[in-house]
Amino acid sequence: MTTVVEAPKKEATSLFEGAKQVLLRAAKHANISEDALMKLLTPKSSLAVSIPVRMDDGSLRVFGGFRVRYNESRGPTKGGIRYHPNVNLDEVTSLAFWMTIKTAVVGIPFGGGKGGINVHPKDLSKMELERLSRGYIDAIADFIGPEVDIPAPDVYTNSTIMGWMADEYSMIVRHKVPGIITGKPISLGGSLGRDTATARGGYFCIKEMEAENKWSPQNTTVAVQGFGNAGMHIARMLFEDGYKILAVSDSHGAVYAEDGLNIPEVIKVKEESADVRDSVYTRASVCSMNGGRCTSISNEKLLELDVDILVPAALENAITGDNMENIKARNILELANGPLTDEATEYLSEKGVFIVPDVLANAGGVTVSYFEWVQNMNGFYWREDQIEDRLKPIMVKAYHDVCTVAKEMNVHMRMAAYIHGVRRIAEAIEAQGTKKYFMRKG
Ligand code: NAD
Repeated sequence: MTTVVEAPKKEATSLFEGAKQVLLRAAKHANISEDALMKLLTPKSSLAVSIPVRMDDGSLRVFGGFRVRYNESRGPTKGGIRYHPNVNLDEVTSLAFWMTIKTAVVGIPFGGGKGGINVHPKDLSKMELERLSRGYIDAIADFIGPEVDIPAPDVYTNSTIMGWMADEYSMIVRHKVPGIITGKPISLGGSLGRDTATARGGYFCIKEMEAENKWSPQNTTVAVQGFGNAGMHIARMLFEDGYKILAVSDSHGAVYAEDGLNIPEVIKVKEESADVRDSVYTRASVCSMNGGRCTSISNEKLLELDVDILVPAALENAITGDNMENIKARNILELANGPLTDEATEYLSEKGVFIVPDVLANAGGVTVSYFEWVQNMNGFYWREDQIEDRLKPIMVKAYHDVCTVAKEMNVHMRMAAYIHGVRRIAEAIEAQGTKKYFMRKG
C-alpha cells in the first residue's frame, strides 16, 4: 500500500518544494487517484552533465548542465533550455514540473521537461557560446529525441542557439532531425509565429479579460517587467491596441512615463543603442530611453506601480512574501514562469487581485512549439495566419476552462489551472493501467 505525503505546513524551502505544495492541494481538490499523485510528485528522470568547453584563449572551462524529463504520461516531454548563472537542479525540476501542468492545461499531447546550463552567457564570445551549446547536446543526446524529449528556447537562449543544437543532434545521429528541437530559425525548419507565440498567448488571455471587464484599452494601464522575447512582444501588442504602458524594465532597470511609453520607440532605442556582441545577445537596455517624458525607476518600483495590469515577464520569485504587501496592481498576467510565490499568490488573491497563472498565461509558447514539431514531423509548413488561427482557439478555450473550474470550485485561477491540468494528467495515468485495474476481481 502506498502512502502519499501530506502537504508540509511551513513555507517551502526550495522552488520545487513550493511547487509540490500547490500540486498536493490541487490533487486533493481534483480528487485524483493516489497512483496518479505518486507519479506526479517526482520527476521521471533527471540528468546532470559536465560540459568541457575550449575557450578562445585556449583554456578549458567545465560548465554544469541539467535536463529533467518530469512526466511523459500525455506524450513526449517538452520544455526549454535556460542559460543563467542561477540554474540548478531544483530550478530545472520545478520548471519541468510546471511544463507538465502547462501542456495539460492547454491540452497539447506532450509531457513536461526542462534543461539549463549554469553559465553567465553574456560573458562568452559567440564561438564559445556555440561550442557550449553543441557540447550540451553531445552530453544529453541519449536523453532526448523527437519522440522522447524535445527542447526549446528559454531565458537567454534563442533561435540562433536552437539552430546550433538541432544541427549538432543531426550530426550525432547522421541524418536531419528537425523535430528534435523547436524555436529554430525558419531556414532550419522553425515555425512562423514562434518568436511572438508566448506573448500572443498572454495577449489572447488579456483580450478575454478586456471583454469580461469591458475595459477600454485607452484607460487601462500596464507595467511589464522584463523586455525580452515574452515581455517586449506583449508590450508591443498591447500598445498597438491602445493600452497605456506606463513602465517596462530589463535587468538594467526600468523606465516610466506617466502618460504611457511609446513602445515602438523603446524597441527602436533599445535596438539602436545595442552593442550587439556577435549578434547573439543585445547589450542594450530599455534604460537608454531615459530622458524627455521618461524617468528611470528601479525594478522593484515597477512591480509596485498602481496599474490595472502587471505583467511579470522576467524570472521567478519577482513577487514574494517580502514585497507582496506593496503590490497595487489589480490584475497580474504571469508571462514568466513562477514570478509569484505560493505565499504571494494566496495573499494577493485573498485581496481580490485577479492572477492569470504562468501555466496558462505563457502557454502560447509551447503551443506554437507543438505546431512547429507537427510541421517538422510532417514536412509540411503552415502560413503565419494559420498558426495564429490555430493558437487563438486553444488559448481562449483554456482560459475559459480554467475560469469555469475557478468559479465552480471557488478557488483562485492558479489552483483552478492546476486542478484542470492534474485531472487531464491523472486521466492519462489511469488509462495506462492503475492499481484499480490490476485489483479487479474475476
Ligand atoms: P529573454 O531572455 O528573452 O528575456 C528576459 C528579459 O528579462 C530580459 O529583458 C532581461 O534583461 C530581463 N530581466 C532579467 N532579470 C530581470 C530583473 N531582475 N528585472 C527585470 N528584468 C529582468 O527571456 P524570455 O524568453 O522572454 O523569458 C522570460 C520569462 O518567460 C521566463 O520566465 C521564461 O521561462 C518565460 N517563458 C518564455 C517562453 C518563451 O517562449 N520565450 C515561453 C514560456 C515562458
